[in-house]
Amino acid sequence: MEIHALQQEILRLKKARDICILAHSYQAREIVEIADFSGDSYQLSVQAKTAPQRTVLMCGVRFMAETVKILNPGKTVYLANGGAGCPMAEQMDRELIEALRPSYPGYTVVAYINTTAALKTICDVCVTSSSAVKIVKKLDNPNILFLPDCNLGTYVARQVPEKNIKLLQGGCPIHARVSVREVEEARAAYPDAELLVHPECVPRVVERADFVGSTSAIMAYAAASERREFIIGTELSIAEHLSYRCPDKRFYPLSKDLLCPNMKLTTLMDVYHAVCGQGGEEILLEEETIAAARRCIDRMIELG
Ligand code: SF4
Repeated sequence: MEIHALQQEILRLKKARDICILAHSYQAREIVEIADFSGDSYQLSVQAKTAPQRTVLMCGVRFMAETVKILNPGKTVYLANGGAGCPMAEQMDRELIEALRPSYPGYTVVAYINTTAALKTICDVCVTSSSAVKIVKKLDNPNILFLPDCNLGTYVARQVPEKNIKLLQGGCPIHARVSVREVEEARAAYPDAELLVHPECVPRVVERADFVGSTSAIMAYAAASERREFIIGTELSIAEHLSYRCPDKRFYPLSKDLLCPNMKLTTLMDVYHAVCGQGGEEILLEEETIAAARRCIDRMIELG
């Protein structure tokens, strides 16, 4: 079946079966086009709450589907491709952090939303890349253990120098591989372009950017800016989506390696099979896990 016909069939089936499709911004364009909502992981979880459908299909990676389930325990939540995990979220588990915690007595444990539901149950507060600085500033405790992303953690520590922020050596292998040499090459190739970078990149790349922000902040900045050209330092899909959204502007990926294979595991056929009831993986979490992880996310909502 060709792409447009497959998309039409998915739209027909999701309506007939009362399914809300959520697509993370790093998904391919043909999936974003048939989604009820697209955006970053936190935006999607919140959108799932307002959606009237009882069933939610997440096109993204596992921790995102878990977050949707934690915030919407009454809904049936599927991950479109059950093999789609996030390497960063899987770098640190609950047992590791429980073992490390005695080394950080009295510290507030701040978890990036890119963590498993099980790990969130023992953390104090969640953050997203867009809310991390604001939330860490608001915490009463001056001592913070930030996990798992040491690059985002370094960015936060530089913005909030009054806090004592300890980092662990985790991070996104996709964003972390962007080099200063690639920044210099892109600057030379596109001298009129602004460089917009995600804080999951290494500090030496982040400090060379004109704008640092989450995926949604980068998209909003580029759309609102009067500038015409942008070098995009986050997953390749964002430059592509922006090219469609702002056809009068030019978007250049900072690196051809900014491709997340985990995000790209999900195909339109996976979505089709899931809305047919013959694919996807239902996210099942224990009630205690949902309740404990929810405390961590609710604190983020309260402070963010
Ligand atoms: S881009 Fe990085 S953080 Fe995002 S899903 Fe892929 S590996 Fe995980």
